[in-house]
Amino acid sequence: MAETIFSRILRGEIPCHRVYEDERVFAFLDINPIAPGHTLVIPKAEVTTLDLLEDEDAAALGRALPRICRAVLAATGTTDFNVLENNGRGANQAIDHVHFHIIPRAADGRGLRTKWLPGKLEADEAKALAAAISEKLQG
Ligand code: AMP
Repeated sequence: MAETIFSRILRGEIPCHRVYEDERVFAFLDINPIAPGHTLVIPKAEVTTLDLLEDEDAAALGRALPRICRAVLAATGTTDFNVLENNGRGANQAIDHVHFHIIPRAADGRGLRTKWLPGKLEADEAKALAAAISEKLQG
């Protein structure tokens, strides 16, 4: 993948407010927070989207994310929060390096706003989709 600004942050060429680092994971404050404590958690591996992540990096992120969430909540005095991870331009990904947003919901209402338009799961379509997805997960 092409290098992004996050590679430059990882190399220390661009400053950031670091909150966590281990062998595979790095976390820092978002430069344009939508709520206080808005934090980005990234793999050190240069991977564009979540589906392309190696198991070892995915496991490291899975281990670190809840710990970082707890620290963000404790530091901001909040209890409610969203974790967001965009993949692809059509899904609002601006920076092509996997990153999870941890976004506290502040007492004044600041936080993630989404328009959720629920559909209806039709039985035939659901059966076909579940079968297709589970088949892709084999092997
Ligand atoms: P996304 O739309 O999911 O790709 O989000 C990219 C995020 O990266 C945005 O929330 C930006 O505010 C954030 N961002 C961009 N440049 C920097 C930077 N230099 N330091 C911290 N956060 C950044």
